[in-house]
Amino acid sequence: MTTPNDWRLDALCAQVDPELYFPEPGAWGKLEESARQLCWECPVREICLAEVMPLEELEDYGTAGGYTAKQRREMRKQNRNAGRQVE
Ligand code: SF4
Repeated sequence: MTTPNDWRLDALCAQVDPELYFPEPGAWGKLEESARQLCWECPVREICLAEVMPLEELEDYGTAGGYTAKQRREMRKQNRNAGRQVE
């Protein structure tokens, strides 16, 4: 029997030190870039990104779906702005 979260079993981030995805303050930069590179090789990147994008800004941190939290905030902002232009 499968569950909605079974995709997490294939997550590459589950095979490495969580510090790579959630580093201590001040340790970003190189770690963040390494995490992003691993994400782009991850077989479940698209579903991961789809899951994290609807999160509230304050619940969303660390690297996920191939993007940093800052990048995802910017993507949400662009999506909101694009939505306003269509209305
Ligand atoms: S895309 Fe990145 S954060 Fe998402 S499951 Fe894969 S390795 Fe983990």
